[in-house]
Amino acid sequence: MPVILGLSAAALQAQTAARGMVDVHVHYNGQKSFLEQMLARLDKHDGMAFLLTPPQNLDEVAAFLKEHPQRFTGFGSIRLDDPDAVAQVDRFQKAGFRGLGEMSGPLKNYDDKSYWPIYERAQQYGMILLFHTGIVMRPNPETPSDISVDRMRPTTLDNIARQFPKLTIIGAHLGNPDYAWAAEIARWNPNIYFDLSGSTLIKLQENYQIFKSLFWWSSIVSPHTPKSSASAFEKIVFGSDVFGGEIEEFDREIDRYKKMLDSCGVSPQAQANIFGGTMRKILAKQ
Ligand SMILES: [Zn+2]
Repeated sequence: MPVILGLSAAALQAQTAARGMVDVHVHYNGQKSFLEQMLARLDKHDGMAFLLTPPQNLDEVAAFLKEHPQRFTGFGSIRLDDPDAVAQVDRFQKAGFRGLGEMSGPLKNYDDKSYWPIYERAQQYGMILLFHTGIVMRPNPETPSDISVDRMRPTTLDNIARQFPKLTIIGAHLGNPDYAWAAEIARWNPNIYFDLSGSTLIKLQENYQIFKSLFWWSSIVSPHTPKSSASAFEKIVFGSDVFGGEIEEFDREIDRYKKMLDSCGVSPQAQANIFGGTMRKILAKQ
């Protein structure tokens, strides 16, 4: 392998892939020190993070976003069942937030019509929506909670995407373990993407080739496959799911993504889109 300025070609390529990265899934933990640490991480990669912000932290995060518009984009973590949800969407939008999420734990299926006024408003604002999909943790097993993974299946995003074609939708965790459904609804809906955060890339680490059969339609000529020159893998976007300030997960998740994408032979151009190019294009359009 040729060596350029002391770096192997592969290492150089890996570095370029991460430049301009976008992490679509970073939870704000309410601590200013976390924002500063995340900023330093992002500086290293010339990157940007979607900062998922509960309503009670809106003001402090809005101020921080204004100081670092190149590094952070705000997402409002509303609860779909909150009677005040539509008004909260307005408040987040006025404060400069570009998206909503991570939505999780709904009392009804994500595509229930009672949530449509929220999606309608988000669409008016050209927002990006991040939904938790698939299995979810149960942090307090002793406390009864009205939560069901069945209401957060990736297939519940399909109807939202079709009803609100100007919304951009990201499903978190590739619907773990409903991968096949997640990939197929992404194939047909140009406004749906998925991140691979969570346990999926750990669970499948001995078997990354499985992703080739999930994202199977690159350059396939078939009357029932939407025409595109893009790699099927470009329905994936990068998300780390940094949570509770555990910032090391950001680095670990970059490594896992790279290992999986390299082992599936995904081209450097497609990887650059997955790591940030796709989301930067969408943000620039809105
Ligand atoms: Zn999640």
